[in-house]
Amino acid sequence: MTDFSDLLSKVPTGLWIDGGSRDGESGNRFDVVNPATGEVLTSVANASVADGDAALTSAAVAQSSWAATPPRERSMILRRAWELVVERTEDFALLMTIEMGKTLPESRGEVTYGAEFLRWFSEEAVRVGGRTATAPSGNGRILVTKEPVGPCLAITPWNFPLAMGTRKIGPALAAGCTMIVKPAEDTPLTMLLLAQVFADAGLPPGVLSVVPTLDAPNVIGALMKDRRLRKVSFTGSTQVGKKLIEQSADQVLRTSMELGGNAPFIVFDDADIDAAVDGALAAKMRNGGEACTAANRLLVHNPIRAEFTKALAARIGATKYGPGYDDGVALGPLINAKQRNSVAALVDEAVTAGAHVHTGGKSVEGAGFFFEPTVLDDVPAGQRILSEEIFGPVAVITGFDTEEEAIERANATDYGLAAYFFTKSLDRALRVSSALEAGMVGVNRGVISDPAAPFGGVKQSGLGSEGGSEGIEEYLNTKYIALTP
Ligand code: ADP
Repeated sequence: MTDFSDLLSKVPTGLWIDGGSRDGESGNRFDVVNPATGEVLTSVANASVADGDAALTSAAVAQSSWAATPPRERSMILRRAWELVVERTEDFALLMTIEMGKTLPESRGEVTYGAEFLRWFSEEAVRVGGRTATAPSGNGRILVTKEPVGPCLAITPWNFPLAMGTRKIGPALAAGCTMIVKPAEDTPLTMLLLAQVFADAGLPPGVLSVVPTLDAPNVIGALMKDRRLRKVSFTGSTQVGKKLIEQSADQVLRTSMELGGNAPFIVFDDADIDAAVDGALAAKMRNGGEACTAANRLLVHNPIRAEFTKALAARIGATKYGPGYDDGVALGPLINAKQRNSVAALVDEAVTAGAHVHTGGKSVEGAGFFFEPTVLDDVPAGQRILSEEIFGPVAVITGFDTEEEAIERANATDYGLAAYFFTKSLDRALRVSSALEAGMVGVNRGVISDPAAPFGGVKQSGLGSEGGSEGIEEYLNTKYIALTP
């Protein structure tokens, strides 16, 4: 077994509450597993409802002084946290690789991307404005100010253990909100190390808590019923997101929801095919396909389908898989056995129904949760693999004849997160961008996420935007003050 003890000794594995690491009230812990081997890395404290309550108490106590802290001071703490994460890139990268499975180069990329939310929102913290106007009647002034929402709860997924946290923590802290983070069960370590970094950066106790738990429904349920909580921000499945929206009705909580996707990736016959293959490789294989923005359905213009498919299958088929910390590996394992079984079931059903396997198609025997990099073509309409999020290294290709057909099929889903297409025509680029029902559209590129841009979906892919100048609005309430001069 590779020895990760030096790295793991730097990670606080208790609950992070009130500025320090502590055991849970029950003393229970749960294991964190390396998905490349199935071996236990370490264990972390398992928060109970009482621990959630303690975290909210510390967040509620810290709220007013954090809101009153000068924006420049809040900004500088975020800036220092950005510097420290960047300084500790290798620790964060290896930690993500061993708890989540992605390759080391991808983990380093996530450190840059995830840390950038802290720098970006350190810059936004000092630019929260408002507006004034004279009432049209002339009878007074309209003063509009922005105030922090109050204590927030963030629930994050396992696929981007750092960035899905910083994308919420950055704007919340910049706006003057305190935050409790409930990281995913499979990947609690990265957020716990980040909590330590924030303490090192000078964040006051109570402003940020991290409470891993195996009992999310009860711990989260109790927090969302507590009158001191003002907002919930969630990234995860549409199914859990819907439950949280229902639960948020009780207290009419502010909500931000980044939910599932079923991204179409359209290649028109006027595209640069080499660039489209590069883009498809990135949109499909980045993070092992375990991303809500991953290209779920590749729709390829029939005149170029054979050429495109052959080129993509050659590239994907040559992808070396293995533990993410091994040299030369371009694809790590899936997160756990359940996820691998789900990918295998989608592929098996499609193949039984007549899909053509160009490369891959099977789970890998032996230790770890590997699935072969796979390309399927001629997938019959109506297959689950065309309507459900795959979350694995499986490219699914179908053909189309006209632009209208491509758009209709791209939009024929309950989801609306990302969409991609390749064309050299400017007319078509503008026309198709506006016709696609998606919160984000990539034109001639396969990677779109950027901390400076608003990330979010339409339809059942979510509510609200994260990142960009829009991201901080999710953590601000608008107040109107009527003034008689
Ligand atoms: P994924 O498919 O990515 O595992 P989930 O939606 O199941 O997505 O999980 C995303 C996050 O939501 C995780 O942190 C998980 O613990 C949390 N979660 C799952 N079920 C619930 C629930 N009933 N209430 C609150 N949080 C939940």
